[in-house]
Amino acid sequence: MAYAPPIWNPPALKVEGSADSFPVRRIFCVGRTYVEHQKEMGGDGREQPFFFIKSAHSLVPGGGGVHYPAKTANLHYETEMVVAIGKQGRRIAAKDATGYIFGYGVGQDMTRRDLQQIGKDKGRPWDFGKDFDESAPCSALVPVAKIGHPAKGAIWLNVNGKQRQRADLADMIWSVPEQIEYLSQYYTLEAGDIIYSGTPAGVGPVQPGDELHCGVDGVGELKLTILPPL
Ligand code: MN
Repeated sequence: MAYAPPIWNPPALKVEGSADSFPVRRIFCVGRTYVEHQKEMGGDGREQPFFFIKSAHSLVPGGGGVHYPAKTANLHYETEMVVAIGKQGRRIAAKDATGYIFGYGVGQDMTRRDLQQIGKDKGRPWDFGKDFDESAPCSALVPVAKIGHPAKGAIWLNVNGKQRQRADLADMIWSVPEQIEYLSQYYTLEAGDIIYSGTPAGVGPVQPGDELHCGVDGVGELKLTILPPL
């Protein structure tokens, strides 16, 4: 079938050790999964996490240069482990959830914090704060067959060589299987869906010229350079 305008390539991530790419369908993101991050965002450390969604077209596969986005004066990083779903499922029990996971990666949930705050203050959607061009850089995925299911290990970020975030996956309030259980009650998860599993404390602003280097030990690393606005 022909399309006018021409059809675009599906957003996709490389798969380590494979010539195949992983086509990205939807990007689910969990908010406030780590206690200390809940507190820095004004919570009491005990609230239930929640989800929001980014367009798959905000993906920046493999990192590299990311332009400072329009209409913000407060662009933030959020370092997160990314979970890739490998098969369809709905109402998945946490104890069965790992069976639906294809692999893992490292991503940045880039955030226009000032626009997100307007959404919070006015009770409006977060879309403009979270879902914008180049807002979802993500590393290659490492298949489960290679690394299993990481539930502990350091998650970290350096900006211009200085450590800005460091925590352990074990500090998550809701584990990845619990996130999948929750999300799959509301959505039929499909192969190609990915989940940004939440950021630890230490979020902060970046400027054009900044170099970000982040990772999840045992999973992978991601490097970004913040470029001037388009
Ligand atoms: Mn986030």
